[in-house]
Amino acid sequence: MLWQGRRESGNVEDRRGLSGGMIGGGIGTIIIGILYFLLGGNPSDIGINPGAPLQQTEQAGPRSPEEEKLASFSKVVLADTEDVWGQIFKENGETYSEPKLVLFTQQTQSGCGFSSAATGPFYCPGDEKVYIDLSFFNDLEKRFKAPGEFAMAYVIAHEVGHHIQKLMGTFDKVDEQRQNLSETSYNKLSVKMELQADFYAGVWANRNQKMKNILEPGDIESALNAANAIGDDRLQKQSKGYVVPDAFTHGTSQQRMYWFKKGYETGDIKLGNTFASEQ
Ligand SMILES: [Zn+2]
Repeated sequence: MLWQGRRESGNVEDRRGLSGGMIGGGIGTIIIGILYFLLGGNPSDIGINPGAPLQQTEQAGPRSPEEEKLASFSKVVLADTEDVWGQIFKENGETYSEPKLVLFTQQTQSGCGFSSAATGPFYCPGDEKVYIDLSFFNDLEKRFKAPGEFAMAYVIAHEVGHHIQKLMGTFDKVDEQRQNLSETSYNKLSVKMELQADFYAGVWANRNQKMKNILEPGDIESALNAANAIGDDRLQKQSKGYVVPDAFTHGTSQQRMYWFKKGYETGDIKLGNTFASEQ
């Protein structure tokens, strides 16, 4: 994938090196400390010194050039998704509201709770942010055997796909049904959500190529390979040695590839109703 020298998105919160949750916890603790003090207590009773600086532990040490390259790459891909979705929304007479990308190390606080890198990249509809620990891209290459820049781009585009679902009201609709469904039925809906995000990633690849001509030979194959490698059937086989279809929340490898490809080949968001499809 050709990406160097292109615009990097400014919608990025770089929390790398900050230990997770300390910002919120720190401020919260100090506010409690101040309240306690105002109410006549001695803050040191509850182990707080309101004059102490915020305890944010920042890991010192320079970042490797490889990691900086991954960060730049992610910002360029995010900018690409802004350009493509901005245009698609405009074509439909609407304005695209851009999501933020949070880069973190190991663990962080999100609008969806406390998250660790073990979760993998995710989108939080509550705060409309995509969360990525860049070490996931090493996992993608080494653990999931899905190397290639375009495989990483696909992962980011998939998360942005969830943001599109948020903007289109799909998240809310699925959430409304949650209470009335058994876990098995709800899992089926979750699979449809995931497959639609794959479809949107494919639509993005199509439109980005038309706008910027960035694909190199093998790129689409590397995205399909990633879709294949991180399907739930594969992941479950790797972790448990067997497959439990009811617990699928992302779809099988075959389904993920099918929907990414459909998006990529058509570039037409209207064809992405995974909910009404048997696939
Ligand atoms: Zn997803």
